[in-house]
Amino acid sequence: MSDVLLQVEKLERHFEGLKAVDGISFTVGPHEVVSIIGPNGSGKTTTLNLVTGTIPANGGTITLDGADIGHADTARIAEDGVARTFQNGRVFATLSVADNIEVGIHSTLRASRPFRRLSRLFLLRWIPLLAELYIAIIGTPGSRRERAEIDKTIAREIQRFEARLGPRRDDPAYSLSYANRRRTEIARALALGPKLLVLDEPTAGMNQSETAEVLQQLLDLKAEGQAILLVEHKLDLVMSVSDRVIVMDGGRIIAEGRPEQVRRDPAVIEAYLGR
Ligand code: ADP
Repeated sequence: MSDVLLQVEKLERHFEGLKAVDGISFTVGPHEVVSIIGPNGSGKTTTLNLVTGTIPANGGTITLDGADIGHADTARIAEDGVARTFQNGRVFATLSVADNIEVGIHSTLRASRPFRRLSRLFLLRWIPLLAELYIAIIGTPGSRRERAEIDKTIAREIQRFEARLGPRRDDPAYSLSYANRRRTEIARALALGPKLLVLDEPTAGMNQSETAEVLQQLLDLKAEGQAILLVEHKLDLVMSVSDRVIVMDGGRIIAEGRPEQVRRDPAVIEAYLGR
């Protein structure tokens, strides 16, 4: 296996003259946890949006396992093995925890072809109401074998957050606490069986004990060999879980290294940690 899973080269994205991401290059290894930190507006979320195909790049290349994903749409990139969560958490409010996870599964190749096309149209393009109506009225098609496989995956992902999501399995997402909605979103992303899990501030809005729980879950995922690209403001969490930390400022990478190296880097202290 190659030691590079995700390779980003000279990636660029401008917004009306503003260089939000200004020619950055970095890699994520197949079992590596890489975090991007930096002040607000430094280009972190834009980088995640480019890697996951949420917005197109103005220049540069992105490859996953050697294959170009730089010009693919979000659904294709998800199928190719990149699953993400969003800064503010996005779940389908009227669907249960289990159905939210199922939505993740249906966007992979394992799901039946017609449903996969629909999921591309409705689900991954985030027209939640249509997706919810579709599942409520038509249900989720698939052969009996697919059904058994889907149920197994849902059970596995709920098991990961058993104490929190287990008792809420059939409750609609709107009735969940904020932290449980975010757990559901992570479970849905993991249900894709992604090669790379992309997390945008998974602890935003969480208190200390909820944050500690997320850290433990990230450490568990890391122990399972899950590759993760993480944007996170809470530096203690970043330093505890990351193999490598990338520091951005003004759309550029100003430092990169192991957590202890980055902590000591004068440019980092100046641009970020010291503020
Ligand atoms: P971070 O995640 O590090 O806080 P972002 O990637 O969100 O930074 O933003 C980087 C810069 O790009 C900021 O100056 C932001 O205002 C700008 N930006 C991000 N998205 C857009 C957009 N859709 N339109 C215009 N400017 C944007």
